[in-house]
Amino acid sequence: MTTEMDAEAAVKELRATFSSGKTRALEWRVSQLKALLKITEHHEEEIVQALRSDLNKPEFEAFVHEISAVSAACKFALKELHRWTKPEKVKTSITTFPSKAEIVSEPLGVVLVISAWNYPFLLALDPVVGAIAAGNVVVLKPSEIAPATSSVLAKLLGEYMDTSAVKVIEGAVPETTALLEQKWDKIFYTGNGKVGRIVLAAAAKHLTPVVLELGGKCPAVVDTNIELKVAARRIISGKWGCNSGQTCVSPDYILTTKEYAPKLINALTCELEKFYGKDPLQSNDLSAIVNSNHFDRLARLIDDEKVSDKIVYGGQRDKSNLKIAPTIMLDVPADSLIMSDEIFGPLLPILTVNKIEDSISEINAKARPLAAYVFTNDKKLKEEFIKNVSAGGMLVNDTTLHLTVSGLPFGGVGESGMGSYHGKFSFDAFSHKKAVLQRSFAGDLSARYPPYTSKKLKL
Ligand code: NAD
Repeated sequence: MTTEMDAEAAVKELRATFSSGKTRALEWRVSQLKALLKITEHHEEEIVQALRSDLNKPEFEAFVHEISAVSAACKFALKELHRWTKPEKVKTSITTFPSKAEIVSEPLGVVLVISAWNYPFLLALDPVVGAIAAGNVVVLKPSEIAPATSSVLAKLLGEYMDTSAVKVIEGAVPETTALLEQKWDKIFYTGNGKVGRIVLAAAAKHLTPVVLELGGKCPAVVDTNIELKVAARRIISGKWGCNSGQTCVSPDYILTTKEYAPKLINALTCELEKFYGKDPLQSNDLSAIVNSNHFDRLARLIDDEKVSDKIVYGGQRDKSNLKIAPTIMLDVPADSLIMSDEIFGPLLPILTVNKIEDSISEINAKARPLAAYVFTNDKKLKEEFIKNVSAGGMLVNDTTLHLTVSGLPFGGVGESGMGSYHGKFSFDAFSHKKAVLQRSFAGDLSARYPPYTSKKLKL
């Protein structure tokens, strides 16, 4: 257990390392990014096993969504690092002539990364890539809800990384609380909004900037003029194919028209059966629910009497292996439990609207989501959606894939979070953009100095 004294000692050591200047050197950053890359290359089986133990995550998902995503982030940072770290020249004004202006990216210092359990390998290391690329020293606090991955992270980072600059501190609420008492130069938190508020309040004490990667209810609007089979497969992939819906950007609920809903349900159930068979509880391609607390939470959403007659597919569950079958509900009431909070599991309510355009006001009546999806071939609807729906990110005619584009920032808005990362945005999240103006002693105009005569005022 990390007491406040342990946390203080760790921060003190890291601050001394940062002050030595070693993490600013590009060679150090490159060596640490290469070490992270090696972890993904040499310990794939160990990581897959840990993810299986924590989430029964299928090997395909463990590899594609976590291991190769971390390795891609390392490779991209290694490729771009020289460009990112170069001072960026900007135009100067007549007032400063002659002069040279630049934005210099400098590391923030000692940073804390607190990560969540649902992608416990990716969500821990993806921000660490940005922190190291930007030249910071880091404490990583993985999620205790995925203990096998937390312990693999502690072991492998201990073996491969420069431990005077990168430390893994494992633990739950008391340990995180002790860490949050310390003064950090940035806190990067991934998880739910309730704890996000605790992190923000702790950060405020030291005026520490934060990135909060939170969640919310991500809507998917399904229009009637689409390639339905493709849409159904892509919705399934983003919902059940992503950790059984335990994903911050999984579609949380669907909006479609009353007439179209039966067709959509039919397409979804057809494809679901092809993917997971007639008894999805037996499928090895469907992740388990992370633990019995979350299993019970999801069971309560299914058992809510307001939705008991709304289930049109699925509903089966098996607590012995923490599996819940893909479950679809139609027209659940707005005040049902399932519509009151982020679902974060394999349940998908479909809500119907009279006109598909009404979906936009339905979405905007709720807190701003992390992601919003629309399936349509209608140019006008697409444009209206992009213009009028506020969300962290959005994707037309697919789900979740926007976060694989390294040129796009990934982060929330409003209650779904603040700040962003991925690609260069990760580097920027952990850098201070220092404004540097350089002048020579030439061009010293007397007009700026007193006495402020009326003639000078007219200049
Ligand atoms: P979690 O339970 O793993 O908690 C996240 C972190 O907060 C953990 O490291 C945990 O130790 C710490 N923590 C928990 N309670 C705390 C407390 N009282 N004080 C201090 N620290 C505390 O994960 P979770 O919150 O269940 O994660 C799921 C949520 O995260 C969902 O809302 C999901 O949408 C969101 N999420 C967002 C992203 C994103 O990138 N935006 C990614 C994954 C998950």
